Amino acid sequence: MSTALVVGLGRSGQAAAALLARRGWHVIATDSDPVTAPDLEALGVEVRSGATDPVPGIDLVVKSPGVPGESAQIVAAHTAGVEVIGEIELAARHLDNPMIAVTGTNGKTTTTELIAHLLIHAGHSAIACGNQGVPLAGLVDHVDAATWLVVECSSFQLEDVDRFHPRAAVMLNLTPDHLDRHGSMTAYRDAKARVFATMTDADLAIAPEDWILPDAVRHRIIRDGARRGPADVAWSDDGLWVDGVGRVTTWDRIPLRGRHNRENIMAAAAIAAVAGGLTAADLARGLESFAGVPHRLEIVGEIDGVTYVNDSKATNADAASAALDAYPDGVHLIAGGKGKGASFAPLAEAARAADVRCVYLIGATADEIGAAMAAVGVPTRDCGRLEIAVARAAEAARSGDVVMLAPGCASFDQFTSFEDRGDRFRALVVDRAVAGD
Ligand code: ADP
Repeated sequence: MSTALVVGLGRSGQAAAALLARRGWHVIATDSDPVTAPDLEALGVEVRSGATDPVPGIDLVVKSPGVPGESAQIVAAHTAGVEVIGEIELAARHLDNPMIAVTGTNGKTTTTELIAHLLIHAGHSAIACGNQGVPLAGLVDHVDAATWLVVECSSFQLEDVDRFHPRAAVMLNLTPDHLDRHGSMTAYRDAKARVFATMTDADLAIAPEDWILPDAVRHRIIRDGARRGPADVAWSDDGLWVDGVGRVTTWDRIPLRGRHNRENIMAAAAIAAVAGGLTAADLARGLESFAGVPHRLEIVGEIDGVTYVNDSKATNADAASAALDAYPDGVHLIAGGKGKGASFAPLAEAARAADVRCVYLIGATADEIGAAMAAVGVPTRDCGRLEIAVARAAEAARSGDVVMLAPGCASFDQFTSFEDRGDRFRALVVDRAVAGD
């Protein structure tokens, strides 16, 4: 019997271990943290909690996205010549379904969910999965072979793919993020680029205009407002146009807000049209009925004419800047949290350009963001905690203004996740609404 080592027992690691056990492997699964996994043990998986030592006698390693390549178990596997793959790669080797891959620094979840929504609304069967949703390995043996799998892929997941071959893939954008883990922008970019590595000219690949694609890859998206170029598959010119489909709809009929979402929409519509064969009417119906994803520019309240926007998923400066671009007037911005090694100068520049009324600083990066804002003359207030920031922003905001949580940072210094942070923001807004009744 062959033995597999699964390193990291988050959701995707657990799904990978279960899949291997079902397929007859002897599976050893380790996690550096204390974990319990009775469901895996019931499948015969040997669970080693709190373990980071290399394991001898292994035939295959499945590395979780959170595990760095330098960890002792992974280095030992490479030294011993043992194949190391990620959970997406493992799952893809066991699935015949048509797959669509979505990657990029920002917009992955929105675009993944939107593509699945478009396909489903046109009568296809489709599942959004991967990074944010159900792990791909969790779908093996549970999904009909004709179902489209729309796979959100993080850079960490793409580090360890090899034969994964999506029929369509999009790289939405690439700006500095996760540099603490990847070490450099080049390493981050190289990881993301693997999404296109196996594609042929029968597939559809979409990438930013300046991206150098393998020869097989010909299509690109274009920027909002630009005119059509020869390589464009979707573009914005008095509404949304898609190659081979024509004019789909006008932007004012689509609820998703912001220029950044136009790029997400262009990519999603192009993929749904080319890969799924959707018509202009199908696309329009789906786009007009897609309300967005929680914690991404989500309106959570309107009190005394002030709109409260939860963009807790803005965990890097570029996402927070995109949020400011979507709400260009009267914004009281709540920002700060756990930094990831990138500069806040671009966020400060976006805040200055959007004429942000004031930035209410919270969390570990408060001083760093404060200094970046001061350098461009944007006012700030030190609040420390979200509760205080919401209270101060609400006091200062006038009718027509926007109080926006777009932290530009990870949440782990003060919250368990970006969802926890966004839920807390929503609860604080609801409390204010109730108190004002
Ligand atoms: P991801 O899954 O890549 O983190 P999400 O769809 O969850 O992407 O959005 C993350 C954050 O980035 C949100 O704050 C959202 O408003 C912002 N965002 C979404 N799409 C884009 C884009 N194309 N460019 C820049 N920021 C974006």
